[in-house]
Amino acid sequence: MNPYDFIPLGRPSPRQAPPGHHLLTARGGTIHARLTTLGPFLVAQQTGMQNTIVPVGQGKVIPGSSLKGMLRSMAEMVGGGCISLSGSLYSRGIYDYSPAEEPHGFAPCDDMGRLCITCRMFGALIRRAAWKGLVEPGEGQWLGSGAPRKKSFDVIVGQPKPSHHAFYVKNRKVRGRKAYYHHPDKIMVSVSAQQATYGARQTIQVRALEPGQAYDFSVRHEGLDPRAYALLLYALFLEEGLSHKLGWGKPMGFGSVKIEPLAIVEIDLLARYRRGGDRATVRHEGAAAVAHVDEKTKDLRGDTGEVMEAVRRIFRCPGPEAKWAYPSYSWFKENPRAALEEFNARERTVR
Ligand SMILES: [Zn+2]
Repeated sequence: MNPYDFIPLGRPSPRQAPPGHHLLTARGGTIHARLTTLGPFLVAQQTGMQNTIVPVGQGKVIPGSSLKGMLRSMAEMVGGGCISLSGSLYSRGIYDYSPAEEPHGFAPCDDMGRLCITCRMFGALIRRAAWKGLVEPGEGQWLGSGAPRKKSFDVIVGQPKPSHHAFYVKNRKVRGRKAYYHHPDKIMVSVSAQQATYGARQTIQVRALEPGQAYDFSVRHEGLDPRAYALLLYALFLEEGLSHKLGWGKPMGFGSVKIEPLAIVEIDLLARYRRGGDRATVRHEGAAAVAHVDEKTKDLRGDTGEVMEAVRRIFRCPGPEAKWAYPSYSWFKENPRAALEEFNARERTVR
């Protein structure tokens, strides 16, 4: 089965000006969270050494920028943000993908006065002007002493042919945003078995962290409206049974992580101008934090539209029982027009 699938684009978010720097924002806060890895995990840096990929900071940290990218990508899918991360459909802001019609309302934001919900939340860079956004994740700190245990993996690399439009398009429409299934317990069939089945591919050696690592991090935010706050909480904690993908090797089954709330602090930034300003800060901890997230995200969790149903199908962890592999180059060559479903049907689910 192909390791990725598509979340339909759904409805585009309305575009609005971000709250101005000069205005007092009414609300802000900090979300404290714990991330636990469910399978091999690696936020990578390429070393100068030949074909070896190792964890950044020996695995003791997760850069805030990595967490921000993960949250933004999830928020774009769920919230109907513009197509800013997968730039392949647009080239310098101009729609540039001939196999499918341009989806309406998803062009990358190009006007600071009219930003989609995710550009308002996570920032935008438009013709050298920068909006820094309303959400800032800090660095993830590993909980432990020394450094996390690592293990070597021989991994087959090889990207699917990007020109295989039949996977990305259905009825001349873009299928949506790409996302990877979870299969942390089946990192792969052995290298030799995969090579025998799918043809020779290049392998590289990877040093990844063993499963079960925990990291604490916090996310500061300011000036989110209730809809954006709900989207942030959903993008962080998802819902029962779903997990995130973070870091290197998503197609191969790396990077499944679970995020849970530890404490949620909300600050009424205008309270200091009123009497009784000591009520300005509210702190929800443990079970109260979980209940707070459930309450704020109940509309999204109750949404059974095509976008949310696809999110539930693809981000469920563990994913379906299947043999995971990209089609080989020879398969693409022999089946130039075959759709994703045809490949998956041929690679029938196995136990
Ligand atoms: Zn945008």
